[in-house]
This record gives sequence, C-alpha cells and structure tokens, in this order.
Amino acid sequence: MICADVGGTAVKSALISVGRVRLPQSYKIKNFYSVPTRSDSGFDGVREKVLQAIEAVRTEGAADIVAIATAGEVSWDDGKVLRATSSLPGFNGYGFAKDISETLGCRVVVLNDACAAAICEHYFAKNRTKSTLVLTLGTGLGSALVTEGRLDAKHVVDLELGHRLYEENGYECRCGKRGCLEQYLSATAIKRDAGTYTVKEALTNTDSEKCRQAKAAFLKILDSVVKSVKSEYAPDEILIGGGLAEMRGLWLEDFHSAYGHADVKAARLGNKAGLLGAAYAALNGAFENQ
Ligand SMILES: [Zn+2]
Repeated sequence: MICADVGGTAVKSALISVGRVRLPQSYKIKNFYSVPTRSDSGFDGVREKVLQAIEAVRTEGAADIVAIATAGEVSWDDGKVLRATSSLPGFNGYGFAKDISETLGCRVVVLNDACAAAICEHYFAKNRTKSTLVLTLGTGLGSALVTEGRLDAKHVVDLELGHRLYEENGYECRCGKRGCLEQYLSATAIKRDAGTYTVKEALTNTDSEKCRQAKAAFLKILDSVVKSVKSEYAPDEILIGGGLAEMRGLWLEDFHSAYGHADVKAARLGNKAGLLGAAYAALNGAFENQ
C-alpha cells in the first residue's frame, strides 16, 4: 500500500509492504520520497504535491489503498479536513479522502498526522501500554492520545493542544487566532526567539544570550505542557515526535535534568511514524465513510 504524510514543510510518501498476518513488525517501508510542500503555491499546488508524492512511490498494482496522515484537524469518519492552518492553504473543509479517492480510483483513508504517529508508537511498541500520548514538535505542535481498545475515534483522540490559547493577545498563529500554544512550543517558536540563529544553533550555542533564552523558554513551556497533560489525561507514556525529536540529543537530557519527567521520551519510530501509523490505521481502523 501507499502512504503519505502531509506536513507544513514536506510531503513524504512511501510504499509499504505488509505481511500476510499484518503484525506490526511485518510493515516494511520500501520506497521513500519527500518533496517540499510549498504552501505558497496555494491549494492546487499543495494538492499537486500530494499526488506527485503518491505517484513517485507507486508501482504496478500497489495502489489498492492509499493512507494519508495530514496536518490539520481531520474527521475520523470521512477523512474531511475540519480545520487547517495557512501551511495547507484552502484545506479548511476539504473532502481530502473523497477527492483523492475519486482521482486515483482506489480506497483512500485520511487521518490527522499526530494521531497517525500516536497509533504507530502505540501499536508498534514492543511492550504496549494502555495509553500513549504523543506530542509532535515541528513547524507546529501536534498532540494525540491513543488508548487500548477498538481503533476508532473514541480511542484515537486528536487533542488539538496546538491551538489552545496560551497567551491572551499573543503572537499571531497560522490558524488566524492569536496566542495559540504552538506559537510558543514548536520549532517555529524556537526559531523566532533565536532571531538570526537556526533551531539547531539555538539548542547548542551557549555563547549567545538569544540562543540560551530561546532554549530555556522552550524547555520551560514543555515542562508546563507535560505537567498539564499528565494531570488531564494521565497517559502511561508521553513521547515526543516531529523535527525536534530528531534533534533530541541537543535538548532532551537538559530537559530531564532541569525538570525531571524521566518518563518523557523521544518517539521510537522517528519521522516514519506518521507513514506507518497511517498504514496501520487504514488496515485496522474502524471508519464509517472512508
Ligand atoms: Zn492557532
């Protein structure tokens, strides 16, 4: 089957083979492809990138089913985008699954990318817990909670923490509101606070006051968010995914020594979690209309 992961920075895709018994360990990524999203090219441009990414990994007879993990709030039942930010222009209200299904002539399943990552981390874990909460820290902030049970909307919840109000009249968010949490907890926030430095520099440059402050602010907000999700959802595990998880060597130890939370870990399956989770959901999930 073919999977795609549609984010604000890149559209990734892969051909995934699944063993006959469909055990998580039988999922293998065959071809991998990535192309910049180019949000500035508008709805048609981004949609074109999605189709290009699918086409790039498609082989004869492989497209019986396409699973797509995407940024934005997505209806579990019919794969429609309920809310998207400016990183996916014109995707608000877009019948994503229906459109791509009609275009390609096969079954298409679309779900939120943080949900897909959480599904992957939960079901592909060697020692499965009762609940897995994933925070994806990248261009934005994704958040999802998967609890043991039927793979449906009740047990896979998009927490939408990224667009919760964090600061009254704060920074303008890509969703159109102000002061959303993802403007304070994401790679984008670190980059903004670090001024002319890159995110990587912000996390490593201890000579620059700006970098030190940007990193300290990031760790402090992460601590407060971890505290609040622990008290609100009491998950068995909290995993950090997204671009900042790939840079975990630059900050995670500092986070643990400053704030504790030894139980907060980097996502095990890295940046392929969205693709694998989408594949797993498409084959095992209970959907009404997709
Ligand atoms: Zn927002």
